[in-house]
Amino acid sequence: MKCILCRIGESVITLQQGPLCAECFVRYFQKKVYRTVRKYRMLTKDDVLCFALSGGKDSLAAAYVLSGIAKKQKQRMFAIGVDEGVKGYREVQLDDMRKFCKELGIEYRIFTFREEYGKTNGELMGIARKKGVEISRCTLCGILRRRILNREARKLGATKMVVGHNLDDEAETALMNLTKGSPELMARLGPSPGAAMHEGFIPRIKPLYFCTNAETELFTKLVGIKVLYKPCPHRRESFREYADRTLDKMERDYPGTKSTLVQNMLRLIPVLRKEHSSGKVNECSRCGEPSKGRVCKVCLTLGKLRIRA
Ligand code: SF4
Ligand code: ZN
Repeated sequence: MKCILCRIGESVITLQQGPLCAECFVRYFQKKVYRTVRKYRMLTKDDVLCFALSGGKDSLAAAYVLSGIAKKQKQRMFAIGVDEGVKGYREVQLDDMRKFCKELGIEYRIFTFREEYGKTNGELMGIARKKGVEISRCTLCGILRRRILNREARKLGATKMVVGHNLDDEAETALMNLTKGSPELMARLGPSPGAAMHEGFIPRIKPLYFCTNAETELFTKLVGIKVLYKPCPHRRESFREYADRTLDKMERDYPGTKSTLVQNMLRLIPVLRKEHSSGKVNECSRCGEPSKGRVCKVCLTLGKLRIRA
């Protein structure tokens, strides 16, 4: 089938507007990201960007497009990767991250759970099970990783943290928060944060907010970003995976489900932010990081595991 835009190239994907060839698709994807960045005022010329890189397709695609903007605007940028110690998976992804950063000339740093917490996420989970601390592997991994990312990005002078969340991720998060979360958590969704929560908290922006998983995967293949197209082996155990499967089924039966869910969330977010503003954010009395409670989630959890960090 010929591309609907240039009418010359053979199509590589069929989107709502019709079939697109490789060249037109790459342009379409980049334009969609630029529009999202502009519409949600994600960047100012003075911003220092920190790319939070997992080494997977989404974070690398986001960094690929945004580093292009940052270079043109002569903005400072750097990348941070975090190794939680998932064997046979994260090392491969972090190798991809290193190569990607070297090719694009992006300075990067990699931090590990072992250096930070003395143990990998898997080892910490073992302790949690032994002590009867109820926490899921992915919740633990997420809070411990976010702490490193935010603190190190801040230390290195970042003013924005670029994350790779795409439309499918946001639909999953919306469904997860609707069924298991709270209005406060839902108020934090969206392509860019609302009012600054705390000066120690680096605002996260999601330039791939309207790009689907399939589009992002194809983009990385077409522009030659080498990545492992495989999720973490522990994702199977997570509620996110369950939400993902549920939404995939709904999307097959009722096409457009994910996009409608995200669009409806976008309409709700301003109301949620007004009604459920998350209140004052203080500093954790133990580690000094931004925290809603007197002690932050990381310190509370590590305390229960009797881990000093
Ligand atoms: Fe961590 Fe879970 Fe993600 Fe694996 S799937 S990297 S354990 S949050
Ligand atoms: Zn703390």
